[in-house]
Amino acid sequence: MGMNRMTSDALAEQAVLRIAPNVYDAEPIPEAARAEIERLLASGDLFRYTAPEGAPVARLEAEFADYMGVRYALAVSSCSAALFLALKALDLPRGAKVLIPAFTFAAVPSAVVHADCEPVLVEVGDDLRIDLADFRAKLDGAAAVLISHMRGHTSDMDAIMAECDARGIPLVEDAAHSLGTLWSGKKIGTLGKIGCFSFQSYKLVNAGEGGMFVTDDPEIAARAVIMSGAYEHNWKKHPGLQNSFHHWQNRLPLYNMRMQNLSAAVIRPQIPLIDSRVQAGRSNHDYVAGRLNGSPWMQVPPSLPQETRAPDSLQFNLTGTWSDDEARAFQTAAAARGISVQVFGLSRDNARAFWNWQFLGALPDLPKTRAMLMRACDLRLPARLVRDELDMIATALIEAAGEVKGG
Ligand SMILES: *Cc1c(COP(=O)(O)O)cnc(C)c1O
Repeated sequence: MGMNRMTSDALAEQAVLRIAPNVYDAEPIPEAARAEIERLLASGDLFRYTAPEGAPVARLEAEFADYMGVRYALAVSSCSAALFLALKALDLPRGAKVLIPAFTFAAVPSAVVHADCEPVLVEVGDDLRIDLADFRAKLDGAAAVLISHMRGHTSDMDAIMAECDARGIPLVEDAAHSLGTLWSGKKIGTLGKIGCFSFQSYKLVNAGEGGMFVTDDPEIAARAVIMSGAYEHNWKKHPGLQNSFHHWQNRLPLYNMRMQNLSAAVIRPQIPLIDSRVQAGRSNHDYVAGRLNGSPWMQVPPSLPQETRAPDSLQFNLTGTWSDDEARAFQTAAAARGISVQVFGLSRDNARAFWNWQFLGALPDLPKTRAMLMRACDLRLPARLVRDELDMIATALIEAAGEVKGG
């Protein structure tokens, strides 16, 4: 279409689309990674266990353990691999029941199934946190609890840990979206027996793919190291676990979920940037949240008092009475302003809507979680955005809600 034939509305829309920030771009990789990658390419030394010591993956593990304040860190191919190894390292019997929140990413129930366990879905309320009454009702008979801090929202961990401790049930944390989040000053991912992190491109640290498994328990660490693929005596390259390894040698399967050196070379220079990214992400989030909360049609669930968040995305509820059609119209009105926002339950095949996890077979009725998913909106909000971009996003959402609901 020629420019002279465009309506002013279409022109305005084009202008908006041109300046709308691209929130799907990942974090750029720090320049410091380049020299190390060149070195690895020149030597071909990509396998973590080739060098006698000081391989990039081993160094990353030491640095990550130090950053998190844990005894052991094991780098793996993904957070999903870390979750799978966590359940395996706990030595759960086949068919063991593992509680997970019904609001999470499909990879989480998938990891449970992969480990030959049975996921039990727990209701999540419209504050995006685990419904404690449902959690308590389902806890008896559970062999493990896997808390997914979905989109970086932390459930009441004091209550959850107290219930788990009282019954001796191990707690695993899926902290894929919670790197840098604090609970009463303690790092999320270090509250339970095992914490799992992701370096997939949409997370705070971007390696394309990658994950980390952290624990303070030497037996669990030794089991996970071997099963991740430390065959024969490669475990000697993991410090501090020699006695445990002797016990498990040749007695565990090797699932080969190792990280390779190139990934570590991409991740290592990002570790010192975590704290500044967390701060920027939090300030961006809180600024946009403040503006959206000024609208009668949107509400961002507040943090819990114990929680210091590290968000790289923003979730809000459509408040008041909205029909499904109005909620869809809101998505369309935001898109017309260049902003992509998804109502979790209204976007087709959304991997975070439990009814799409058909691989689980018959699905339970989870009315609270379903109601939440039908009105909770998901917006990417990377730490690198600047104030003008945040204002543009907030204004677009407020106008889109106004266009649908009036006012
Ligand atoms: C991304 C994500 C995962 C999966 O991480 P991968 O590294 O891609 O396997 C698991 N849980 C949550 C909450 C996530 O956001």
